[in-house]
Amino acid sequence: MTAAPAPPVLDSGVPRIGLGFDSHRLEAGRPCRLGGVELECEVGPVGHSDADALLHALADAVLGGAGLDDLGSRYPDTDPRWQGADSTAFVRAAVADAAAQGLRVVSADLVVVCDRPRLAPHRARIRAVLAELLQLPLDRVNLKGKTTEGADAQRVEVTAVVLLM
Ligand code: MG
Repeated sequence: MTAAPAPPVLDSGVPRIGLGFDSHRLEAGRPCRLGGVELECEVGPVGHSDADALLHALADAVLGGAGLDDLGSRYPDTDPRWQGADSTAFVRAAVADAAAQGLRVVSADLVVVCDRPRLAPHRARIRAVLAELLQLPLDRVNLKGKTTEGADAQRVEVTAVVLLM
């Protein structure tokens, strides 16, 4: 009988992709925080923390690529400690924990889908915040805004993808 072949050893230099998604309901009169930036808008996302769907998707992408537990497992919405929490802390913690695994984010790209607020006037500001959070130059971080053309005006949805090395 021949021995089973040894499992392949993954090269530690192999890049990893992380994918994150988040969706929050929009409600009138709520503060509108997206990508760590407070936006002027008549509606804002509803949630347990500051409900920043963009940062939640980004943090989950980093955690996913690093093989770590997702945001919901780490910061459950039943835990009063995270009520009204500033979601920039979730991204910073995800980046730090990925770094502890020897991984750093080298690029990020995001798609934000919502009818309100319009993303275009705030895109540059949000991009700069994300670059700072991920400790990346601006050209390694991108985001684009899409609308549903009225098909779903009650929600904000964000998809984030990151590359880790
Ligand atoms: Mg969320």
